[in-house]
Order: sequence, then C-alpha cells, then structure tokens
Amino acid sequence: MADRKHVVIVGGGFAGISVAKKLKKAEVDITLVDRNNHHLFQPLLYQVATAALSPGDIATPIRAILGQRKGLRVLLGKVTDIDRDQRFIALKNGRKIGFDYLVLAPGAQYNYFGNEEWPEHAPGLKSIGDALQVRERILLSLEEAEQLEDPKLREPYLTYVVIGGGPTGVEMAGAIAEIAKRNMMRDYSTFSKNETRIFLVEAAARILNGYPESLGEKARETLEEMGVRVLLNTPVTDIGEGEVSFSEGTIQTPNIIWAAGVAASPLLTSLKAEQDRTGRVMVEDDLSLPDDDHIFVIGDAAHKEDAEGNPLPALAPVAMQQGDFVGELLKRETADPASERKAFSFTDKGTMATVGRAKAVADIRGFKFSGFFAWILWSVVHIFFLIGFRNRFRVFVEWMWHYLTFNRGVRLITDRKSAKEEETTEIKNEI
Ligand SMILES: Cc1cc2nc3c(=O)[nH]c(=O)nc-3n(C[C@H](O)[C@H](O)[C@H](O)COP(=O)(O)OP(=O)(O)OC[C@H]3O[C@@H](n4cnc5c(N)ncnc54)[C@H](O)[C@@H]3O)c2cc1C
Repeated sequence: MADRKHVVIVGGGFAGISVAKKLKKAEVDITLVDRNNHHLFQPLLYQVATAALSPGDIATPIRAILGQRKGLRVLLGKVTDIDRDQRFIALKNGRKIGFDYLVLAPGAQYNYFGNEEWPEHAPGLKSIGDALQVRERILLSLEEAEQLEDPKLREPYLTYVVIGGGPTGVEMAGAIAEIAKRNMMRDYSTFSKNETRIFLVEAAARILNGYPESLGEKARETLEEMGVRVLLNTPVTDIGEGEVSFSEGTIQTPNIIWAAGVAASPLLTSLKAEQDRTGRVMVEDDLSLPDDDHIFVIGDAAHKEDAEGNPLPALAPVAMQQGDFVGELLKRETADPASERKAFSFTDKGTMATVGRAKAVADIRGFKFSGFFAWILWSVVHIFFLIGFRNRFRVFVEWMWHYLTFNRGVRLITDRKSAKEEETTEIKNEI
C-alpha cells in the first residue's frame, strides 16, 4: 500500500474548496490554508455593497463547509512564500507546512495599474470589508446630502462613478440606479431622485466585453433607461480624494467604485514559474506546473487556454471545474500512482449578468436572451451555487421581500472608526 500523502491547498475559494470536497473520501491528509476563515461568494458582493444582503448571507466558515474528517486540517493564515526545492509553504507567522502535493488557488486581486493611491479613493469589491466600505460610503453620502440645502453643494454626494464595464461594474451600476431611483430615496426629504447621477465608465468601446456584442448592447440600453450614463472609450486618467478625472474632464464625488482590471495573487511570484501579463501562472493540460507535476495552480490564479488558444476567463465555473478535476486526479493518483493523468477541459454552460431589478442578460450555449426570464434564471443559478441551506433560504427570502416591497434591509452605518473619532473629540471637549 502507498504511503499516505499530504495535500496542501492554498485558498478556500471556489477552486480550493472544490479540491478539498473531492478529496473527502481519499486516503490522504489535507491541509487547507486561507487568510480568511470563510469562503466568500464573490458574485453577490455587490448586493452587500448596495445593502440588499448581509455579509453572513454570502460567506460561510470553511470549517463548516468541509466538516470533520480524519487527516483534515483547516488553518487560518496568510501564505507568504513557497519553497519548491524544500517542499514547504511558509505562513506570515513564520510557520512552515511541508507538502507532497501542493494546490495553489489564491485567486486574484484588483489591478490599479501601478497607481498606489487609487485604491484608497476608489475601493474595489473583493472582500466583505470592501463591500461594507462601499456600502458605508453610499449611506454616509446620502446622510451628508440630506443636510445640504443648496443643490449645487449636494451634487457630489448624489453622484456615483463605477469604473469598469465588466459584469461587476454593470451589476453595481444597475443596483445603485435601483437604490437611487426608487426605494431608499423615499426616506430622505431634502433631495429628489432626479438629482442622482450615476456614471459607468469604460475604457473600451463596449461594455460586457467577454459576452456576445448584442448582449453588451442590450445591457447598455437597459442601464441608460434606468438613468445610468454609460461613458465608453473613456479611460480614467487620475483618481484623487473625492474626484475622478478623464481626458474630457473631472467628476466630483466621494462615491467612486473600482471594478476594472484584475491581477493574479502576488503570492504566485514566489513560485518562480512562467506567468502571463496579469500574473497568472502558465499551467500544463493537467493544471500542474510544466516542470513540477506535484504542484498545481487553478482558478483565477492559472492561465489555461481552451481548444482555440484563448485563455479561460476568470469565472467561478472555471475555478470549480478545475478544483473538481485536480481533486479527482489526486484521488486516483494517490490510490494508484501508475494511473494516467487526463487533460482538463472546460464545459461552458453559459454566462449571465443582472442589470437591475428583475432584468438580466444571458448567453446559454449560444442562446441569447435578456429581461425578466434571464433574471429568474440568474437568481435560480446563484441560489443553487450558494453554499449552505441557511444561506440559500435567507437570500431567497430577502430577494422575494425586496422584489415585492422595493425595500433594502441592510442600511446600517456601523463605521466604528469615525464613531470612535467623534467620541474622542467629545471627550476632549468635555475635558
Ligand atoms: C465582485 C465580483 C463579482 C464576480 N461576479 C462573478 C459572476 O457573476 N460570475 C462568475 O462566474 N464569476 C464572478 N466573479 C469571479 C469569481 O468570483 C472568481 O472567478 C472566483 O472566485 C475564482 O475562484 P478562486 O478559487 O480561483 O479564487 P477566490 O474565490 O478569489 O478564492 C481565493 C481564496 O484564496 C485566499 N487567499 C488568497 N491569497 C492568500 C494567501 N496569500 N494566503 C492564504 N489565503 C489566500 C483568499 O482569501 C480566498 O479565500 C466575480 C468576482 C468578483 C470579485
């Protein structure tokens, strides 16, 4: 009988969790390391940012997902280095973890193209913290606008700029339009919904670039009907505190949201393997490194081409299918080292994006459609892929409630930092 191998998985996102689940019954020890203790359903982050859902609806503790099993360890820690020669990964706290097989699934992060100060003024949506920061900015802006009698002075607080016309930017702009034009506005008395300005800014000539052109056009029309101004061929030239500039001018607003370029996790550079221009690691047909068949890179971190030579997109279905594939491969190989490896191939079941309340665009195996039916399909698919019955049930109820009442439940401002500053000032004033 072969010795029991140790499989180390870095990342508890869609890809890493799929590997661990496939290996559940395999005769291997598994260590999964993530810098967060939860798996995050990123496709619904924009709904936390726009106060439709709570963080707990889209995040599940990794331990709860994987349960208990002999030889399984889930560790909370940031992986900072990979030593291929000595066969270990190093955590930020200095601990080292040895491996027989290593599966890297650390995902991607936003790319601000070297502009170090932009993230502070234009947060992206990648974590629960980011989504809460955006939510807080939107809600605080409305509070500020409510206190300003002069429409000119309150204009920046009622202005939103979303940068990047991919699915995240489109969904975010649509959700803001919905808030701004309908439900939340009823709660404020100083300003009217007509004062809200929403811009979706895209450097390319069209939005939803990875989708068929007709769906990108449909999404643009729908957004414009909802009051979003879609600025095409408009690269951002600068972002500062409360303002964003393009070659044609500057827009003043504290509500700037970055949904533009992505780059693979910086951890991957420590592999010293070939990377593409966005930092994704070039992998073989079996998703392992060209010169090391015991190290795999999967999900958003990997550069794998389809049969036509195009890189697979950074999408959840790609990450999940790659995770299943590597999990299955390791299960077979650890049971029978002589087993032959197959090549990974991605099955594209379709792409979808929502464009606001009860509206979406979809391309399912070449069948393109939009509107209410596309939105129903989008909702069903997202509920199905959410992890855990409790989350599925809660999100379903929230969406039904929101659909029937137009009400967004999660409108709490909990910015402890500014609250603390105010408390300190008050105490100082009292002294
Ligand atoms: C806002 C947003 C909306 C999206 N919408 C869609 C959509 O509608 N449809 C779709 O298909 N896809 C969508 N995506 C893309 C999809 O979420 C990704 O393709 C998918 O999450 C990739 O899975 P992954 O496992 O490779 O990486 P991730 O899911 O990002 O997981 C990576 C994990 O690695 C951990 N990690 C990273 N670095 C380290 C480290 N150094 N040490 C320890 N742990 C680490 C992270 O904490 C994370 O848990 C969206 C993404 C975003 C950000």
